[in-house]
Amino acid sequence: MPTDPVLVVHGGAWAMPDDMVEAHLRGVNNALAAGWRVLERGGPALDAVEEAVVIMEDDETFDAGRGSFLNRDGRVQLDALIMDGATLRAGGVGCVERLRNPVRAARKILSESPHVYFVGEGAERFATEHGIPLCENKELIIPREVERLREYQAEAAQRASSPDGNDLFAPHISHDTVGAVALDRDGNIAAATSTGGTLNKAPGRLGDSSLIGCGCYADNLSAAVSTTGWGEPIMKLVLAKWTADRISAGNLPEWSAQEAMNYLKQRVNGHGGIIVLDPTGHIGIAHNTPRMAWAYKTVKKEDAGAERSA
Ligand code: ASP
Repeated sequence: MPTDPVLVVHGGAWAMPDDMVEAHLRGVNNALAAGWRVLERGGPALDAVEEAVVIMEDDETFDAGRGSFLNRDGRVQLDALIMDGATLRAGGVGCVERLRNPVRAARKILSESPHVYFVGEGAERFATEHGIPLCENKELIIPREVERLREYQAEAAQRASSPDGNDLFAPHISHDTVGAVALDRDGNIAAATSTGGTLNKAPGRLGDSSLIGCGCYADNLSAAVSTTGWGEPIMKLVLAKWTADRISAGNLPEWSAQEAMNYLKQRVNGHGGIIVLDPTGHIGIAHNTPRMAWAYKTVKKEDAGAERSA
């Protein structure tokens, strides 16, 4: 049955300062426009989320692609996942260091590999074998992030790290992971999430973003979901799938997104944000950080913001 398309994107949940709001809103609106171009000509939700995420990976404002946070060794290590709600096919890459657009490689895995997930060098080899050029890691590094890491490491050297690991997350530290969820004219939904992970992460650390059901999930029988925030708590709760399950149990995305944030906070003291879309076109956008950049478009309405109240 033909359906009106819907697209929702996010650009990370954190205590974004006032002077960064504009760049984030510009970024999510550009992503929205790119994804919408696919949907309005009748293209698949899968293409729409891929194109929306590519725009944000290419935008240095976000913690995805070039301009991402640096890990402890001063290198960019990227993770991404894309999932098709119609078939449950998924493609994920983890800890890649030489791909400008990890979501493109993830999409190739979804479409052309019997496997679902590739990491590190194997992921990069898969990408080149499928026509995606590699870059040097230094091409993904920008001066802002070199300075941010230097400051963070200098501060960390001064303070004793907290015993429960909570020093890994401070809501004021940028968490600009990007994500998109879409519904196309054929009634199919899809989701994608892409990230450079957390600042000063240990090399090889993988967060929630690229793990199926944690940072990203899509199933036509429930919902498409993309999350952002402190990855370790999110992955412990398999939060994207948890949220999709609330929807297949009959709840609306709006309520389920808010419940997911309550659950994240109450169960593991987590911080983050979430976008949710069901196959009937209902959306949910929520965060328990001070801000999260978001934007959505339907045939009737378009809106964007840096805060979303329940
Ligand atoms: N969830 C991401 C991670 O932990 C970070 C983020 O959302 O900004 O890798």
